[in-house]
Amino acid sequence: MSNNFSEKIRSLSEHYRSYTAENLSEIVQIPSFSGEEKNVIAKLKELCQDAGFDEVYIDGLGNLIGRVGNGPKKIAFDAHIDTVTVGDEKQWKTPPFSGQITEKLVLGRGTTDQKGGAASMITAGRILKELGYGGEFSVYFTFTIMEEDCDGMCWKYIIEEEKLVPDFFVSTEPSSCNLYRGHRGRMEMEVSFEGVSCHGSAPERGVSAAYKAARGALAIEKLNDELQPDEDNFLGKGTIVVSQMSAAGPSQCAVPDQAMLYLDRRLTWGETEEMAVQQVKDVIPECKDVKVPYYDKTSWKGTDFGQDLYFPTWKIERDHPLVTSGEEAYRALYDKNVKVDKWTFSTNAVAVCGRHKIPSIGFGPGDEDQAHAPNEVNKIEDLVICSAFYASLVYSMEENL
Ligand SMILES: [Zn+2]
Repeated sequence: MSNNFSEKIRSLSEHYRSYTAENLSEIVQIPSFSGEEKNVIAKLKELCQDAGFDEVYIDGLGNLIGRVGNGPKKIAFDAHIDTVTVGDEKQWKTPPFSGQITEKLVLGRGTTDQKGGAASMITAGRILKELGYGGEFSVYFTFTIMEEDCDGMCWKYIIEEEKLVPDFFVSTEPSSCNLYRGHRGRMEMEVSFEGVSCHGSAPERGVSAAYKAARGALAIEKLNDELQPDEDNFLGKGTIVVSQMSAAGPSQCAVPDQAMLYLDRRLTWGETEEMAVQQVKDVIPECKDVKVPYYDKTSWKGTDFGQDLYFPTWKIERDHPLVTSGEEAYRALYDKNVKVDKWTFSTNAVAVCGRHKIPSIGFGPGDEDQAHAPNEVNKIEDLVICSAFYASLVYSMEENL
């Protein structure tokens, strides 16, 4: 990026170092488990308004959407602001919702996964406003809900129901300030088995659904070994595992006539829902059916929404303009190259890029291994880098349009 903005952006993000850390601390102090995000959404709305955003509103599901700029193209920066629960509280050295700020860190549940991204986004919006941004982009900042339960569902809603369809998408999930351009997809499957029950004293009279499921489980173990990586080995190989199993019949003294295997499947590039279901049917010919379960839940706003538990794989090319613009923005700010890589876990980009093919990247503060862990922390330095990067990316994209 050759423009004069990068120096200015870097010093503004530095100037706002404690503002960003304090905003993160404030939103960490408001618990927001999936489906219970009402209070944190209200706080974020206030923060976006104070930062001078041009528009701030809550959508039909309960996501908070902020906008800076009014250009014809749309770029969206996204942070989910729900968190997982705290787990065993005895394992936390400071209370999970303290939001304590130390010299280098902000402490608490959600600091890294992923309210840190949200805090950096607010500062980026503030910086764009201060620079008087009025370019080609409407810059959306989305603070989304229910991600931990059903990744991407919030964005399925934004695109399909709210009809807000960005041209480019940036997930701010933790990437250690690396630039990510994909991750594996995932899905869940329920395999059912049917047998014929009979008295347990004479099992030869019946057909055991439990033994069918047991043979099925071993077939899944073998299938996992046979799965192949993607062509360029960027995402690596898919996996499949039995995550639950059950069997039941008319009594504990009977041959069971019903059984179930629950499967967790990770999908590499080129592996689709239909293909993965067919694979299971092929290796377990004894099964009755293979289903992808449906998830639905009522949001904090009282809206019912749901989807199949299928989260498509996504990636974009190494030389996509969104990737190269990100590289340029980073170089202009810090005079060094950003690492381009992929996530291990799953993000809202499954809906945006996986389902709706909208070019996406990831860049976020904090390390992936902090997610869902006790004593979760985020680094204030990462927050500063991210607020600068998000603002710079807008200008950098503009040059490459
Ligand atoms: Zn997350």
